[in-house]
Amino acid sequence: MELKNHLHIPSPVSEINTSWSKYHNVRIQLKRDDLIHPLISGNKWRKLSGIFSKFNAEHFDKIVTYGGAYSNHLVATAVVCAIQKIPCKGIVRGEEPKERNALLQLCRLYGMQIEFISRAKYMKTNRLYGVFDRELFIPEGGACHEGTLGCTHILSETNLSNVDQIYVSCGTGTTIAGMHSYLQAQNLKIPLIGIQVLKGSKYIEAELLHRFNIGNCIIYDQFHEGGYAKTNAQLIDFIHDFTVETGILLDPIYTGKMMFAIKQLIEQNAIESGKKILAIHTGGMTGWLGKGEELNYLKKTPHNIKDV
Ligand SMILES: *Cc1c(COP(=O)(O)O)cnc(C)c1O
Repeated sequence: MELKNHLHIPSPVSEINTSWSKYHNVRIQLKRDDLIHPLISGNKWRKLSGIFSKFNAEHFDKIVTYGGAYSNHLVATAVVCAIQKIPCKGIVRGEEPKERNALLQLCRLYGMQIEFISRAKYMKTNRLYGVFDRELFIPEGGACHEGTLGCTHILSETNLSNVDQIYVSCGTGTTIAGMHSYLQAQNLKIPLIGIQVLKGSKYIEAELLHRFNIGNCIIYDQFHEGGYAKTNAQLIDFIHDFTVETGILLDPIYTGKMMFAIKQLIEQNAIESGKKILAIHTGGMTGWLGKGEELNYLKKTPHNIKDV
């Protein structure tokens, strides 16, 4: 398939060596779904791939999907549709702003038609799913059963023989639901742990039960750092230090919070010395398009690279 030539799949796994993981003797492997494509990032591709294998493009003329003004899912959909030459529309939550942000401009560059609707209207329709009048509606964030099926490949293409625990960040819970169903189908007993990035006690646990009938994932809901898409100085400093130490950039909304949580869990000995963990880099680099100003949090002086 043409689309496959645009994507880096299977994605590689990187060994992560940070001062804190070495000090506490925890081995971290990072599944690099961020490398699948620069804009069809990580788990957004996984979810769309599951949806596309159910809905054959012969059965619809257009794709309609939903997102907030900084939705990684919207830009991923715009790019996938451009590659496949499928017309698409993105319905964006809230009133039309005076100026479109960089992420929505990227959607436009890839040919996506953008429509703004009121929050009230948005909340009534954002979970629409299926073909209506030859338009394929994909719910916000690609959150649907077929989205979970695509996410099974995150683990099916990864060697899990030396893994004690698996970590992933959770927004809707679709990605972890797919990974969970893979482990269950393979009868693998590796603990799968979700880091919830939204505020709300047991929010993802409730979503998993309600949407996907899953009751036995471990979800930490205390690492949201102030709420969805919120950041603070500690988080930004952490992401900076991680990037300098590893050469791998995390995003501020999902994977930064996941890795910051892993560091804290290691330091609290909730992840014990000697453990080998696999963390999923679900991508999300376009999240930085809305976070440029928050980099002002970064108080550290620039890292000095030695003269060669
Ligand atoms: C959307 C997103 C998530 C959340 O995935 P869910 O399936 O909604 O839980 C995680 N990481 C990144 C980088 C994302 O863009």
